[in-house]
Amino acid sequence: MSHLDPLLAEHYETVLQRNPGEQEFHQAVLEVLGTLGPVVRKHREYVDAAIIERICEPERQLIFRVPWTDDAGQVQINRAFRVEFNSALGPYKGGMRFHPSVYLGIVKFLGFEQIFKNALTGMPIGGGKGGSDFDPKGRSDAEVMRFCQSLMTELYRHLGEYTDVPAGDIGVGGREIGYLFGQYKRITNRYESGVLTGKGLAYGGSQVRTEATGYGTVWFTEEMLKTRGQSLSGRRVVVSGSGNVAIYAAQKAIALGAQVVACSDSSGYVVDEAGLDIELLRQVKEVDRARISAYADERGSATFVAGGSVWDVPCEVALPCATQNELDGAEARTLVENGVVAVAEGANMPCTPEAVDVFQAGGVLFAPGKAANAGGVATSALEMQQNASRDSWTFAHTEERLHEIMKGVHDRCATAAEEYGSPGDYVAGANISGFVQVADAMLALGVV
Ligand code: NDP
Repeated sequence: MSHLDPLLAEHYETVLQRNPGEQEFHQAVLEVLGTLGPVVRKHREYVDAAIIERICEPERQLIFRVPWTDDAGQVQINRAFRVEFNSALGPYKGGMRFHPSVYLGIVKFLGFEQIFKNALTGMPIGGGKGGSDFDPKGRSDAEVMRFCQSLMTELYRHLGEYTDVPAGDIGVGGREIGYLFGQYKRITNRYESGVLTGKGLAYGGSQVRTEATGYGTVWFTEEMLKTRGQSLSGRRVVVSGSGNVAIYAAQKAIALGAQVVACSDSSGYVVDEAGLDIELLRQVKEVDRARISAYADERGSATFVAGGSVWDVPCEVALPCATQNELDGAEARTLVENGVVAVAEGANMPCTPEAVDVFQAGGVLFAPGKAANAGGVATSALEMQQNASRDSWTFAHTEERLHEIMKGVHDRCATAAEEYGSPGDYVAGANISGFVQVADAMLALGVV
């Protein structure tokens, strides 16, 4: 790899050889290693202790069968994964994704990102991720429950509040977490609240957890804009996706005075020049679990565009909040031509490497997901704190804590970028700051 430091290139080759066919994992590793050259030059002790090789190899990878019975009485088989990537800073922590595209390479990319993201929050949590190729779309509540119960019947033995603490991700929201927690509690006969996060408020959940990822992404954007004496107020914003992250990113952007004019799902996008009506969006997506076109059916100012790219809609701030590699180089060029000034990844790795290059070359403020969307896992850690102390905080208090944490994440990225010679480069800053913290802990813990 020509742009990798020679101290790192060989390790990337090893990752390619040991993990064949896992394209998303390769992409995530290359993105991180591509920024660590100055770090390993300065800290040869990381090289001597094989920190790079160790950090790229998960501590444990679980793959298991999930049999369940659908409403027609037919037996269905899915495959599920949990990758316990790194526990140098704390118990493995990271969500579960239910989507037909899930395979080991996606879970490993997400788990790898999670190591550095969790370190950036400044909280004592390690990195892990999981999921299944189960598709909840079109399934009844009873089917989703039976699937979740079957999955937990295997997974429970690997979990624990001091061991591994899953949460939600694509396709896993409050409903799924409830069924997973119910089965864990039943099998173990323990009310171990801290074993899962993203729980409902009725049984140990935290205020602001639902909103946290989207809110955090917007606060991070605001912090970036501040460095140029700018703000979100009066800005035209486009969000992709219309799930958990997208909805609450849009809500907070509006609260800070922006106008959010478009969002999407995998069927197409809606443009609403009057500004998105968040309550209607929540009704359509969270309550009715309908397609995004239903939003346009209900609202006169909105139009639905089937297929196509939401990034064709001109905006000053773009918040990709759907899925990996959803925004490519051509779309990035369109955004730059249309005058985008800031892009923050609410999703994990939504911008392709070429898109990131286009933004950075165009002088656009760019926040990588491992920094911009860290508010979700940070609030999960706050949920664990509340569970451990048998306490529950108010919305206002929790929101204030999250806001402070996101300012801290921003400042850690900015400081590390400055220190290692790339001022204003949040990609380098996030990777370096997260890596150094984990690497120091791994050094201290010895070869384990
Ligand atoms: P949801 O399932 O709530 O929403 C996902 C949204 O993205 C939906 O609108 C979905 O559309 C769209 N989407 C998913 N896959 C595709 C695809 N292949 N093509 C186009 N659109 C797609 O998930 P979340 O909002 O929780 O997660 C979104 C992103 O944010 C993910 O990358 C996730 O890893 C990341 N993230 C989430 C956190 C959280 O706390 N939830 C924390 C940190 C990161 P459709 O319904 O049509 O599939």
